Amino acid sequence: MTLHRFFVPEETLVGDTVALPADSAHQIAQVLRLRPGERIILLGGGGLEHEAQLEAVARAAVIARIVATRPAVGEPALRLTLCPALLKADKFEGVIQKCTELGVAAFQPVISARCVSEAASAQKLARWRHIAQEAAEQSGRGCVPPVEPPRPLPDALKQAGGLMLMAHEVERVTSLHAALAGQSLAEGVCLFIGPEGGFDEREVALAREAGALPVSLGLRILRAETASVAAVAAIMHERGEMG
Ligand code: SAH
Repeated sequence: MTLHRFFVPEETLVGDTVALPADSAHQIAQVLRLRPGERIILLGGGGLEHEAQLEAVARAAVIARIVATRPAVGEPALRLTLCPALLKADKFEGVIQKCTELGVAAFQPVISARCVSEAASAQKLARWRHIAQEAAEQSGRGCVPPVEPPRPLPDALKQAGGLMLMAHEVERVTSLHAALAGQSLAEGVCLFIGPEGGFDEREVALAREAGALPVSLGLRILRAETASVAAVAAIMHERGEMG
């Protein structure tokens, strides 16, 4: 069985013996009901994974001893930043969860003209980050993709870099496949996905001016949340990251 994985603050991983933070301790003692002697993986997010043996498991504290340290696998070679327009809560949370599993390096949520929801509270942001952490643990990632506070589209375009792509359902000339062909992608990819109602033409023009390339994901119109997951999977597949 694969070992349970826990991201913990890097500073808790200084010695051989680690006192787990309250949330992981709760998960280990109360939810998974692991016992002393069982092994887990601890990750600080700095590229290493530590196999640790549980020494003490109690409601109040869980102590583990590191027995082996190795480079974390599970991080794709491609740095893909997903910039999805905000969606209704459950849809957006699904995008964060599934795209974390697929290997997205970072999320930059975008406020666009046809977005249903405008503001994101600190609470919402904390929830998105928690979802990303759980998905990263479950899927064997080496780090948790950061989820940035939402930005209006023009700002998000300004701070984007590498190959910038905007999925646009009316694009007929450039396919996602063609946009990636022959590119080293050393600077990474920033992928913009629109809201339920799509990007409006002014937004597409703005994206072009900022250096983004509108791309097609095929002749079927995908729901926004499907488009994020499908496009991320397609890009990872193109780069040999899907097995
Ligand atoms: N405006 C459309 C639907 C938008 S789909 C309508 O109501 O008819 C939501 C988002 O998913 C789009 O903004 C785009 O980023 C992406 N998308 C969905 N299907 C796509 C396709 N076939 N090609 C490229 N992008 C697509």
